[in-house]
Amino acid sequence: MAKVMIIGAGGVGGVVTHKCAQLSEVFTDIILASRTEAKCQAIAEQVKEKTGVTVRTAQVDADNVPELTALLKAEQPFMVINVALPYQDLHIMDACLEANVHYLDTANYEPPEEAKFEYKWQWAYQEKFREKGLMALLGSGFDPGVTNVYTAHMAKHHFDEMHQLDIIDVNGGDHGHPFATNFNPEINIREVTAECRHWEDGDFRPTDAMSTKAEFTCPEGVGTYNIYRMYHEELESLTKHFPSIKKGQFWMSFSENYLKHLEVLENIGMTSIEPVMYEGTEVIPLQFLKSVLPDPASLGPRTKGRTCIGCIVRGTKDGKEKLVYVYNICDHEACYAEVNSQAISYTTGVPAMIGAKMMVEGKWMKEGVWNMEQLDPDPFMEDLNKYGLPWTEVELSEHPLEK
Ligand code: NDP
Repeated sequence: MAKVMIIGAGGVGGVVTHKCAQLSEVFTDIILASRTEAKCQAIAEQVKEKTGVTVRTAQVDADNVPELTALLKAEQPFMVINVALPYQDLHIMDACLEANVHYLDTANYEPPEEAKFEYKWQWAYQEKFREKGLMALLGSGFDPGVTNVYTAHMAKHHFDEMHQLDIIDVNGGDHGHPFATNFNPEINIREVTAECRHWEDGDFRPTDAMSTKAEFTCPEGVGTYNIYRMYHEELESLTKHFPSIKKGQFWMSFSENYLKHLEVLENIGMTSIEPVMYEGTEVIPLQFLKSVLPDPASLGPRTKGRTCIGCIVRGTKDGKEKLVYVYNICDHEACYAEVNSQAISYTTGVPAMIGAKMMVEGKWMKEGVWNMEQLDPDPFMEDLNKYGLPWTEVELSEHPLEK
């Protein structure tokens, strides 16, 4: 059906490549391009072994728009699946516009010099994509991504009006290291050390990072975890597109060990993104820290346990109050057995493949720049069940964070 170019050969790039290759009737030609071609080749070899499908590889610096445009023009894929880093988003969007190629990503643009999580830069591309007859799908990972689709599903099938949204992301996995991050350490640490903001009565309210904590018991025996309120990018688009939401919060689990290490690293300045001079060389402490931490891709074979990510929505249906929880549980070891990766990359890579499939099949083809919740959730929810991220929905009698 279609040729796709995946950009970024990290943890998520590996999963997307495996999942696209598993659906070779949809993704008939796959090119994996990244800054370091050897990483693309290693993934291509694994994919060949597991699926028999040949993935072509290419070297590209996605921040070099003319170089990427030339590659896209030479290959003419139907679309790009961008799973490089958030810093590359705008450059890849520019190259897609130049080469007439559709676009998808899993994280919103971040300026490298400032940890700002906002859609404004990418939403500003709306007209440019529309004029060219091209589509850009933003945030097709798990959170953002599946969480947006869960919310759209609840708006469509469960509620007349939604009033409160709580997104809860629990990683009950254990990789055995004293401190490691499950995805790109630089992006992860920028996100968790940022000021917390939650939506309440028409505005984002700031609080200190990690200052609001709750206890959450996951379903199906995954366990009870401390979860911390933090800002996450999907809150911006979801509260804009569902204006009846009065309160919107995002929660993530962190172990005491993770927080203890993070606190020390922060206190001694190692998480800073301000450059410092070291023996005549400019060094960004957070980037140096990334280079000494375990590579997230290396956690796959050693991570055990499950993730549980979902949305709880309170609202009204037929004049009555209603509370619904939709979630997915994903097993780290099962992911590794299938695609050589832990569940964090898996839960991001599978929705990236499904988002691309929606576009290739024309189920979600629309000119312009779109967030996931603006499209029909039904075909996406159906594919989540088919391709590795089955979901469950339950009606709750009381809100678990208000007990
Ligand atoms: P990794 O750091 O493992 O991989 C990133 C890849 O991008 C690397 O292969 C890197 O190349 C490549 N890359 C970086 N800069 C460039 C460039 N200028 N040109 C070409 N390639 C480049 O990250 P992850 O796989 O963990 O994450 C990928 C994306 O997924 C990130 O944007 C992350 O924020 C997002 N994400 C989204 C989630 C969601 O649920 N929505 C959850 C988790 C992640 P090299 O190998 O040379 O360094």
